[in-house]
Amino acid sequence: MDKQDIKKLTKKKLIFEVIKERKRNKEKDQIIHDRLESKKRLHDLRLQLDKEKNITKELRLKLSQQEAIANQAQNMSAKLQKIANENKCYICKLKYEVTGGHRAVSIKCGHLFGEKCILDHLKRSKACPICKSLTSYKDVRFIIAGQNLCTAELLI
Ligand SMILES: [Zn+2]
Ligand SMILES: [Zn+2]
Repeated sequence: MDKQDIKKLTKKKLIFEVIKERKRNKEKDQIIHDRLESKKRLHDLRLQLDKEKNITKELRLKLSQQEAIANQAQNMSAKLQKIANENKCYICKLKYEVTGGHRAVSIKCGHLFGEKCILDHLKRSKACPICKSLTSYKDVRFIIAGQNLCTAELLI
């Protein structure tokens, strides 16, 4: 091997080394790039997860609001049922009439009954059938059912 050959060989070796180094660098770049990509993907996934968590939270809130509304509606219908029951004569359990013998009347304590029912009751007892307060015929008053009615109309 002469000097020239050695030079050539060294040059070749150097070129080979450079190529090898470049290849290694390229692989490193790829690894770094991949890591960055997966980091980005992880970040995106976290964002997506946060969004979904918020949606779930909102849905839960809406659901609980709907449950509250449903509960209110149930309470309201129970109250309406109570009012409807209270608007029936306690003695015979029938609705009051606007005219006739079963109009709503109050007695001294304020409790309401159908007229003929309470008059029959007062023949036997002077105590309110509900609260047992003492009352008499002269405490019996007609109840005016609405704005458009007056006592005169009730007496027809
Ligand atoms: Zn009655
Ligand atoms: Zn009473």
